[in-house]
Amino acid sequence: MIKANLSNIAAFLNAELIGSDLAVDKVFTDSRQNCPGGVFVALKGPNFDAHQFIEQAIEQGAVAVIVEHPVTEPVSQIVVKDCKQALGDLARFNRNNLKARFAAITGSSGKTTVKEMLAAILQNIGATYATRGNLNNDIGAPITLLEMNQQHQFGVIELGANRAGEIAYTASITKPDVAVINNISPAHIEGFGDLNGVARAKSEIYSALGSSGIAIVNQDDHFASFLKKNIDCNLLTFGIHQNADVMAENIRLNYELCPQFELVFEGNRQTVRLPLIGEHNVYNALAAAACAIGLGIQLQDIATGLAQTQMVQGRLNVFHSDNEVTVIDDSYNANLESMKAAIRLLANYPGHKILVIGDMAELGDLKEQCHEEIGLAANEANISQLYSIGELTMLTHNVFKGDKYHFNHQQDLIQQLKQEANPGVTILVKGSRSMQMEKVVLALKEQF
Ligand code: ATP
Ligand code: MG
Repeated sequence: MIKANLSNIAAFLNAELIGSDLAVDKVFTDSRQNCPGGVFVALKGPNFDAHQFIEQAIEQGAVAVIVEHPVTEPVSQIVVKDCKQALGDLARFNRNNLKARFAAITGSSGKTTVKEMLAAILQNIGATYATRGNLNNDIGAPITLLEMNQQHQFGVIELGANRAGEIAYTASITKPDVAVINNISPAHIEGFGDLNGVARAKSEIYSALGSSGIAIVNQDDHFASFLKKNIDCNLLTFGIHQNADVMAENIRLNYELCPQFELVFEGNRQTVRLPLIGEHNVYNALAAAACAIGLGIQLQDIATGLAQTQMVQGRLNVFHSDNEVTVIDDSYNANLESMKAAIRLLANYPGHKILVIGDMAELGDLKEQCHEEIGLAANEANISQLYSIGELTMLTHNVFKGDKYHFNHQQDLIQQLKQEANPGVTILVKGSRSMQMEKVVLALKEQF
């Protein structure tokens, strides 16, 4: 945070300061975090009330607290009605004093990937701060903005939503110069009623753009025309199939199945080589490129940055062993769509293809059907062998027609799978978070 006096902060929050006025430049909300000289905001959640942790926060270095009632501990205190609201207002206070230019990113999938791609582009141009990990909600976005200071030239902010109004709130604090909706699909649909509700909620991001702002729309998305109707600032579109301002042409895969394409904008073109596998990453790259163009970055710098994008751990990370075994780590999580995408990807590899899967969680009544469906998808993709673990993947095992093994214990699976790790074999590992399939990947890598 930019250095500010507690009295100025209290005035901005329209709240009372009790105790001495100090200059502060750090804010924190987790009392386990070490934060010397910090201001601790005592958030309340469904299962906790951080007012109970004031003492711990002081031990960790808090010199002031933002609280909903006065506390007895000897620190400066700003007493507010609602600490969560105060965190947002404090982020607004900081944001208003920053010099950085901002990109805000939302969408049903690929937000974190687009964020990483855009940050990779911008950090070659100037000091860039991007959302850490997946801190994209109405607490995470304010925390991100509070971590920025006047050194930063660019902010890349991921905005997610569980309900209508959340992005309107986080985007109004972010005040982006450019804002993108990557795509709209039926992920996390519960809080929105239906897909139209998802589209409306995502479109809130554009309402935070000023008249000189740039709204970025995926022209190939089913909701493109709906989204464009609600924009009253500049518009920039991207796409592959429909005619758009920023386009990817001549898409091909290199020998490692990483996409390459020509990035085209206003008659100029630049070859882009992505270090990430999966064709959906072409869309993610276009979204990042359009944001960068909106911020005035040249195509050549965009291509350089995109080529430097770090992979997000556990999401289709490829490893090659010395003896020519390929392991694809997609162990971060699994749902029906991403499982099918992973199977399609594995189908592209030459030679012997082994699919190693754990159960997909949180599928409700659809769980049986979904696990059978991936067995059919694996048949269609000519997967050579299926290794499965868990209760539900037994259904996949039953449907799969190739060579197959089902396990109840991960150690048994690992032991047998290691025997298969011969030259020319490709092994893809995926399952829901709870299945801890990353341990299978680790065991394979240890053997290399
Ligand atoms: P979350 O809602 O968890 O924050 P996210 O929107 O940030 O997710 P990522 O973490 O970038 O998304 O990607 C999650 C998974 O979504 C990836 O592993 C990949 O399988 C899939 N994915 C990423 N980008 C796209 C895309 N453009 N289209 C379809 N699927 C995608
Ligand atoms: Mg994310």
